[in-house]
Amino acid sequence: MSKIQVLPPHVADLIAAGEVVERPGSVVKELMENSIDAGATVLTVEIKNGGMTYIRVTDNGCGMSSEDAQTAFLRHATSKLKNERGLEAISTLGFRGEALAAIASVSRVTLKTREKDSPEGTEVRLEAGEITDVSPSGCAYGTTMIVENLFYNTPARLKFMKNDRAEGLAVTGAVLKEALSHPEVSVRYIRDGKEECHTAGDGRPASCLYTLFGNDVFSGMLPAETDMDGVKVSGFVSSPGSARGNRTHQFFFVNNRYVKSKTLQAALEQAYKNSLFTGKYPACVLYITIPPGEVDVNVHPAKTEVRFLREKAVFDGVYYAALAALDRQHDRGELSLPEEKPPVMKGRVSVPSGGFKTVSAESYRSGGGMRPVSVERGFFRRPAVRDYSVPYTVTPKKPMPEPEPEEQASFLPEAPKWRIIGEALKTYIIVEVQDGIVLIDKHAAHERMIFDRLKAAGDKPMTQILLAPVIFPLSPEDMDVLTENTDFFRELGFEAEEFSSGRAAVREAPEDVDAADIPETVTEICEKLRSGKTADAATRRDEALHTIACKAAIKAGKRSETPEMQVIVESVMHDEVRYCPHGRPVAMDITKAQIDKGFKRI
Ligand code: ADP
Ligand code: MG
Repeated sequence: MSKIQVLPPHVADLIAAGEVVERPGSVVKELMENSIDAGATVLTVEIKNGGMTYIRVTDNGCGMSSEDAQTAFLRHATSKLKNERGLEAISTLGFRGEALAAIASVSRVTLKTREKDSPEGTEVRLEAGEITDVSPSGCAYGTTMIVENLFYNTPARLKFMKNDRAEGLAVTGAVLKEALSHPEVSVRYIRDGKEECHTAGDGRPASCLYTLFGNDVFSGMLPAETDMDGVKVSGFVSSPGSARGNRTHQFFFVNNRYVKSKTLQAALEQAYKNSLFTGKYPACVLYITIPPGEVDVNVHPAKTEVRFLREKAVFDGVYYAALAALDRQHDRGELSLPEEKPPVMKGRVSVPSGGFKTVSAESYRSGGGMRPVSVERGFFRRPAVRDYSVPYTVTPKKPMPEPEPEEQASFLPEAPKWRIIGEALKTYIIVEVQDGIVLIDKHAAHERMIFDRLKAAGDKPMTQILLAPVIFPLSPEDMDVLTENTDFFRELGFEAEEFSSGRAAVREAPEDVDAADIPETVTEICEKLRSGKTADAATRRDEALHTIACKAAIKAGKRSETPEMQVIVESVMHDEVRYCPHGRPVAMDITKAQIDKGFKRI
C-alpha cells in the first residue's frame, strides 16, 4: 500500500499558518499590508485582549468584488502576481497569496468589502477556513476584516501565546512599524477601547516619528539623507547623546517595507564607531529606496529578513547618510576636546612601546607567587602583592614639577606612600608611587567599588523615593519585560510600572543612581533580561547590578573632584578592587625604570 499521500488542503493551510501567523501581531501586520496594497490612505486597527479575541482592520482601499471576496481566502490566491516573471519586479507588500488563507484557517473571520463603483458590498463569514455565509452588505467603500478567537481550533498553538498584555504589545510594535513605513497613510490604533495613536498621514516621516515616539525621542534625532550609486537613503538617526542601551529603536525600511538586515545595522553602527561607548546603540528611522529587482524579500516567510544584490552600495548609502548627519550636528560638545591645560605635566612625554604592565583579570586569576603579565611587545614579572607599604618620602632627589596652585596634589594623612598627581583626559587618575606611576581608570574602579557594595548589601539596596516619577519611553518589547519582572526590579530598588502606552514610570530607585540616569539603567536591565533568559537567577541579578554600578559610577569624560578621587585611589592602592565587573583592568603601572629608559637615562 502506498505510504505517500497528498495533504488535505486544510492541513496544508494549518502548516502554512504556522509560518505566516505566529501571533496576533503577525495577523495585524498582514492585514495592514493588504490594506496598504489596496491603495488605502486611511486605516483603523482595533484589537481587544491583545488581539486574541478580536482584531479589526478597516481601510478605504479599492475593495473587492463578491467573487474576489471569496477566492481571496484560497491558498495561493493573489491579485498581485500573475506569473513567475512578475516576481522580480514585485513592489507590493504581499504576494504569496497565503496570508488570508492562513489566518482564516485558525480563526473566525468576517469580511465586509465594497468596491468604489459598486452599488452594494459583500459580507463573507468563515470558520476555521470554511466559508459559512456569503451575503450582500450595505457596508462602506473599502474593506473591513474582523478576526476573532485566534487559534481557537489549534489548542497546541494557543498554548504558546503569552498573556494578553504581551500579545497586545507585540501588536503595538507591528502597528508602529507599518505606520512608520507608510507615513502617507493615516493610521488610527485602538486597544481595548482606547485610542493609542493616530498618525497624520501627511507623508512626512518627521510627523509620524513625533506622533509615535513623542518629543523626547524626536528631539534627539538628526535628519539624514544621501543619494548615491542608485541607493537613496532618507530619515533620521540619533545624536550620540541620545543613543540607547539596545537596538530596539533601529528601524530600517527598504522600499517602504520594514526589514531586518545585519548589513544595514552594521552600516549604521560603523558611522558611530568613534562617538559611542561600547554597549550603546544608535537609534534610527531610515528609508532606503533601491530598484525592486535588487532586493530579495522572499528569504523568510514573515518577510522581514532581506538580501541585497549590491550589498556594498547599500552599506555605503546608510553609512554615509549617518556620518553626514553626525558631521552636520551643531551641538558637538561631547566630541570636542577640553580647552584647559593639563594640570601638572608640562611638555610631552611618550611612553616607550611595550612599556606598560597592565593588571588584568587574567593575570590575577593565574595566581601563584610570580605573575607573568604579557603585553603586546614585552614580558614582565611583577610581585604577587603590590607593596606600597615601604616608607616613602615625597621629596625625590630631582624635584617634581610644581603643581598649579589650584590643582594642589593631595596627600593622604599619615601614610604618604602614594600621592595623587591629578587627572588626565578626564578619565585617568595619575598616582605617583615609590617606583613609578599608576594610572587608574576612575570609572572602572568606581564601578567595581559600587558593584561590590551592592552585592554585599544583600537583598535590597538603599533607595530614594523620587519627588516626581521619572517617565520615559520604552519599546514594547522592553515594556513587556519590565511588567513581567516588577518583583525583580523591586528587589534591585526600582519601583517601576507602565505609565501609558510606550512610557514607563519609575517612582523609587537605588540611591546610587541619578534620576537622569534612570531611563538608561532600566532600559539596559530590560535588554539584559531579554537576552539572558536562560541564565540562573543569581547571574541575572549580578548582570543587573553591573548595570546599576556602571550608571552610578563617576563617568569618564567628566572632571572629578579630589575627594572623589581619593576614595577611589585608596581602594585601588589597598588592592580592594583590581578589575571592573566586566573584567577590564582598573589600574596600569608604569615603572620609573620604563620612564628612565624612554628618556635614555639608563
Ligand atoms: P497576498 O497579499 O500575498 O496577495 P493575501 O492572502 O494576503 O495574499 O490576500 C489575497 C488577496 O486578497 C490579495 O491579493 C488581494 O487581491 C485581496 N485582498 C486582501 N485584503 C484586501 C484589502 N484590504 N482590500 C482589497 N483587497 C484585498
Ligand atoms: Mg497579503
